[in-house]
Amino acid sequence: MKQTVTTAIIGGGAAGLFLATLLPVESGSVAVFERGSRVGRKLSATGNGQGNISNLACESAEYFSSSKEGDGFAKRVIARYNYPSLAAHMERLGVLLLPDERGRVYPTGKQASALTDALRFSAAERGVAVRLDTLITQIEKRGEYFLLRAKTAEGEREFFAENVVLCTGGKAAKNFGTDGSAYALAQSFSHTLTPLYPSLVQLKTDTKKIKTLKGIRVSPARVTAAWWENGKRKTHTLDGDILFTDYGVSGDVIFRLSAFFTDKLADGVTLSVRFLPAFSEEKIYETLVKKRALFPDTPFEELLGGIVNNQVGRAVLKTVPKEDLRAAASAVCDFKLSVSGTLGFDYAQVTKGGVRLEEVDENLQSKKAKGLYFAGEILDIDGQCGGFNLQWAYASAACVAAAIGQKTQKARGQV
Ligand SMILES: Cc1cc2nc3c(=O)[nH]c(=O)nc-3n(C[C@H](O)[C@H](O)[C@H](O)COP(=O)(O)OP(=O)(O)OC[C@H]3O[C@@H](n4cnc5c(N)ncnc54)[C@H](O)[C@@H]3O)c2cc1C
Repeated sequence: MKQTVTTAIIGGGAAGLFLATLLPVESGSVAVFERGSRVGRKLSATGNGQGNISNLACESAEYFSSSKEGDGFAKRVIARYNYPSLAAHMERLGVLLLPDERGRVYPTGKQASALTDALRFSAAERGVAVRLDTLITQIEKRGEYFLLRAKTAEGEREFFAENVVLCTGGKAAKNFGTDGSAYALAQSFSHTLTPLYPSLVQLKTDTKKIKTLKGIRVSPARVTAAWWENGKRKTHTLDGDILFTDYGVSGDVIFRLSAFFTDKLADGVTLSVRFLPAFSEEKIYETLVKKRALFPDTPFEELLGGIVNNQVGRAVLKTVPKEDLRAAASAVCDFKLSVSGTLGFDYAQVTKGGVRLEEVDENLQSKKAKGLYFAGEILDIDGQCGGFNLQWAYASAACVAAAIGQKTQKARGQV
């Protein structure tokens, strides 16, 4: 016998689990279909296992999208289901949230797995059926219902649902079940995708200047990225750790910066590293002048020792004419690297791009198939590092929950 549910949630990740705890109980039966053997595996790994679930700036910071209206779209959804709304929801589930000094919000126990546990316990308590090891391979409209085909441990299975919510994430970090194959489910309803790029990811750069720096971490460095956008040069600057590697650069500042430009690499992106943000270029120059006068026999390439890491100093001085102390000070403050690529989706935390926003309404319902909804990273919206992506997962799920709730009330003639 075929099983029928009111709402089928495809993907038991962050958005799917939020949705399972937010759908009004009166709106009918709910089932979560998750291809993995556990729900919320990625959620439990977020924020280095501490669960950076939101950010105090989630209503003001830029969200990215190929659509010109994307940031506004994301902001409208998040304004309806913002950080206080998320905090109140998690508090109802027994989890307290607290921001740190940078505005990043974590559960007070600093364990991401506590978020997953709270959500899955709440889903179970609300009678949501969770089907693990169930890969949804095909969805078709059959009259008023959707027919879902699944691969399970017991073989091929079929399910019927009145509403389907695609919460299948993107293409980043495939070890968590997100290899991008689920976009085909949206495409089978004539949905189209914007180009996909990895975001929150390590960067490949020209390695000639940095080949002696492998394994060296500079903290804090100030890094400015510059890229082209609509014919204009745009820049963004952040402070944090930079780690030099054999392929280019990594570290928290690189990760955070990557959100701004991984879709712009074809037009040329450069990084400018300021190794000593606490000191002015003039102060570094004066120090070098005094040092040169005091130690005339010190080889030029050793002159930055004691000012920056010795290896960094040598690499920097290789880029300037011998004995040019002005140029040396300037290179400490503006060490340029050109970005040639990223380490790719397997290493990225988030996917830039996804299902086109023009193809969904303000309730995140498909304009192509009534009853089909989207929440989370599958859509062409991505956030900066720091809790913005989980806040989007929550807000988009809450938006869909409200829409399905209203639809049920309407069908029952209650509104
Ligand atoms: C290591 C890491 C750390 C991160 N840290 C943070 C952080 O601290 N803060 C933050 O805001 N964001 C963070 N992110 C990003 C954040 O986790 C994601 O943006 C968020 O989980 C997206 O939620 P989602 O529900 O859309 O997708 P996901 O959480 O990726 O869930 C999608 C689910 O769908 C399942 N699935 C896919 N296809 C199918 C199918 N055909 N049938 C059945 N199931 C399917 C997958 O197995 C998966 O469980 C991090 C990401 C990674 C990888």
